[in-house]
Amino acid sequence: MSYNIAIDGPAGAGKSTIAKRIAKEKKFIYVDTGAMYRAMGLYFLRSGIGKEDQQQIGEKCKEADITISYVDGEQVVFLNGENVNGFIRTEEVGNMTSVCSTNPEVRKKLVELQQLLAKNADVVMDGRDIGTCVLPDADVKVYLTASSRVRAMRRYEELRARGESCDLAQIEKDIIERDERDMNREISPLRQAEDAVLVDSSEMDVDEVVEKIISLCR
Ligand code: C5P
Repeated sequence: MSYNIAIDGPAGAGKSTIAKRIAKEKKFIYVDTGAMYRAMGLYFLRSGIGKEDQQQIGEKCKEADITISYVDGEQVVFLNGENVNGFIRTEEVGNMTSVCSTNPEVRKKLVELQQLLAKNADVVMDGRDIGTCVLPDADVKVYLTASSRVRAMRRYEELRARGESCDLAQIEKDIIERDERDMNREISPLRQAEDAVLVDSSEMDVDEVVEKIISLCR
């Protein structure tokens, strides 16, 4: 039986940083489900499909073949055979993604892939619906959050470090909007699973959060 750790929470809560560290310490595989949804978002942006066109999104997602593999421990996402890691981290893709991820066909396709990965390996998986929907029997479930201001600041620093110009107020506005959509959508909304442990990282550093989650695994 594989051992599964599920980490859910809103945008910018630090899920991927924390999950990567835990995966390294426990020698588990890190599965970034947001990256899979982002690859799907990129596909729709490139195809010129409008955010409002849910019927096309449901149809066209069948043509997007999304797979992942690992290079030096880093997850690489492939969209129809192309490594798209370098294209999926923009705000434009993030906003498109939060719209297309409300589509039932998109979710069905990616959830199946995620469940298969977790069945075959010990994983730390992060996303929005991992503890509630993808891995309801996960060994450890965490709901990781922080205030919207702290989350916007983190995203701002991350974008600036990559040399992208950005505006803090706009990022916070986008984050709040994205949370709204993720929490209020009909299928698999973002919420804390009943058996998940709430961790608020607003006033915690990375080491403290990692230590807290590792202690839950013991
Ligand atoms: O985590 P990240 O910001 O990369 O996720 C991008 C978007 O993908 C989220 O805003 C959310 O709409 C969607 N997502 C999802 N379910 C997941 C992971 C991500 O709906 N398990």
